[in-house]
Amino acid sequence: HRSMALAEQAKRVAAEFDFGPDAVNRAVKEFIREMDEGLQKEGTELSQIPTYVTAVPNGTEKGLYMAVDLGGTNFRVCSIQLHGNTTFSLTQSKVAIPRELMVAKTSKELFSFLAKQIENFLKTHHEDHYAGHIRRRQTGETFKDEEIFNLGFTFSFPVNQIGINKGLLMRWTKGFDIAETVGQDVCALLQKEIDELHLPVRVAALVNDTVGTLMARSYTSPGKTGTLLGAIFGTGTNGAYVEKLDKVTKLTSKANEGAYDQSTGEMIVNTEWGSFDNSLRTLPVTPYDKELDEKSVNPGIQMFEKRVSGMFLGEILRLTILSLLKDPTFPLFRDENSATNDIHSTTQIHDDSPLYKQWGLDTSFLSICAGDHSPGHRVVRQTLDKDYGVSAVSTEDAEAVRAIAAAIGRRAARLSAVAIAAIVLNTGRLDASTSTGTATTEKKEGIDPPRGEGESSADDDDVIDIGVDGSLVEFYPNFEDYIREALREIEGIGEKGEKKIRIGIAKDGSGVGAALIALVAGRVG
Ligand code: ADP
Repeated sequence: HRSMALAEQAKRVAAEFDFGPDAVNRAVKEFIREMDEGLQKEGTELSQIPTYVTAVPNGTEKGLYMAVDLGGTNFRVCSIQLHGNTTFSLTQSKVAIPRELMVAKTSKELFSFLAKQIENFLKTHHEDHYAGHIRRRQTGETFKDEEIFNLGFTFSFPVNQIGINKGLLMRWTKGFDIAETVGQDVCALLQKEIDELHLPVRVAALVNDTVGTLMARSYTSPGKTGTLLGAIFGTGTNGAYVEKLDKVTKLTSKANEGAYDQSTGEMIVNTEWGSFDNSLRTLPVTPYDKELDEKSVNPGIQMFEKRVSGMFLGEILRLTILSLLKDPTFPLFRDENSATNDIHSTTQIHDDSPLYKQWGLDTSFLSICAGDHSPGHRVVRQTLDKDYGVSAVSTEDAEAVRAIAAAIGRRAARLSAVAIAAIVLNTGRLDASTSTGTATTEKKEGIDPPRGEGESSADDDDVIDIGVDGSLVEFYPNFEDYIREALREIEGIGEKGEKKIRIGIAKDGSGVGAALIALVAGRVG
């Protein structure tokens, strides 16, 4: 009887996370409205930041480039050889950033450390370049153009980008705090320190990680069609896509903005979609979403991200479970002698269980729940015991937790579909791809690169390609299936449109993606 009641009640709680077809369609319309608004003016919910990158690669790009990534705890330096056939080789080194440099007095302390790492990398992996550099330093010669590495600088902090290699730091986050740097051009700061070491390196591009994802995917994706959208579903969520330049009126209407190539008629726009619908016109709101937001450091902000990304899904589940445990009539974890308990003992939640601490439940637990097909959900029960301090969990309890976790994961994926669909619809890519007609039957010359595992096999010229990255989309078992289920329900996409959308993992956005942006930037000068 208890198990029946629990299953029923868990189903009711799971249903609170329903985000049905009508709600999805309303949200798509709102997303499109906010996209257009953001292209026209500043201070909107979707920031729609112009990136000054005006083309995506097609896989034939060649050359040797460098990339660095300052994103949090580590500084990554790499060199990337693009082979021009959608493949590349990458050499990289990684170093932890000393705590004291994150809160240094001067920008120089941090940026000279970064330049020093670039020098070490060149010494270790590009001895030839480095030797030439030493010789020139002695003779006072300058570098020839072809000897200079173009470098893409992935800098994952809020910047006001004003050119392809120019961006002013708005504020530090993630534990960094160097007052002097705020308002400064971070590319110029890095270039200055590189020049003091006389390194043959030019900071050619400032790179946002979503743009890197888009570029990396476009270079490596099968077929000739460029990628439309790069999206991240990791700690946070965000996307960058290819927009028509003449729609980016907030940029094109300003005569004195930084230089960019206008010949492609396109520009990649960084949506900053984590803050989609902050005013909650169309986003779903449960009591658990409210509580999460109220207890967060930035209430009312990043409302889409708070329902979608890895940083928050575990916390939503934790708050839901806690609220059920506070309800004396709710039968979760109240097993006193269940026949299905392995050892016939009472379920216990230890006082120091991470379930009682904010952020105590990691989103990887949702993936474990979704992927546990073992008899009696043994894996979920063991994880609750080992990692979360809940011992002797019954099969029914595990089933109830699984049902609620699945509902939270499914809602996140359906919300992700809203962003994807809005961009596919608003860029008119679906119309463009249906009108290619007989061209799709043409046989292409050359060797087709291998398709990624699990990628759909839509006709390459008729496909809308989307690159994704991040642990959530990579490891949550049904994430793409749930996205597709919602895409089919969206007006203007439907079954036919959904089949044309190809979603593929784009690894190494901050390496190969940044290199590709440095390449594009090199072309415009
Ligand atoms: P980042 O976005 O910081 O570059 P990741 O893409 O690895 O890094 O994302 C980290 C986030 O993904 C964390 O919030 C973590 O909780 C979540 N995460 C880690 N492993 C998994 C998993 N197996 N399934 C779902 N989410 C996961």
